[in-house]
Amino acid sequence: MRHGFKAQAERLSISVREDLGQGPHDPLAVERYAERLGVVILTFAELEISAASKKQLLVADPESWSGMTIKINGLNGVLVNPEHAPERWPNTIMHELAHISLGHVATRVDVGPDGILLVSDFSQDDEDEADWLAGALLLPRDALRHFRGLGQSAEDIARDFGVSRQLCEWRLRMTGVDIQLRRGGRLTR
Ligand SMILES: [Zn+2]
Repeated sequence: MRHGFKAQAERLSISVREDLGQGPHDPLAVERYAERLGVVILTFAELEISAASKKQLLVADPESWSGMTIKINGLNGVLVNPEHAPERWPNTIMHELAHISLGHVATRVDVGPDGILLVSDFSQDDEDEADWLAGALLLPRDALRHFRGLGQSAEDIARDFGVSRQLCEWRLRMTGVDIQLRRGGRLTR
């Protein structure tokens, strides 16, 4: 990951919330953020393609994809795999939005059913950045420190922020928040 990228991601998590009229510790309004980027979040039900095409997208590789960016009639859309648990969707959406906001260029674009462009395959560096930025935007380090400092568990925070516990635990580990609080003697559980 580029030098300074992690700090940049934390700054972005604050400025994005400011733009949306949200506080630094608020759960991100994911759909409004997508709107700002001019991206539509699509469910399979809303996708105006034939049932056969939907089936083709879904069965292509149902386990391996959580979300994908598509271009349909000149519109940017993010499609979420409905087979995956709903608490994973925000991170899936934010991962795709991170690729878009960072201007990542896909190494592969496929033409899917009904002429939909499927934007897929990014470099590993781009994937790492998108993972990191998505996590930072959904669970800013400062917010984690704040709520952990108040004694909330990873599960509490995940629920309040509408994300999976796994993502919250990953962020707590990767940001070093728990280690920092433990050193300061402020972590009780
Ligand atoms: Zn990706």
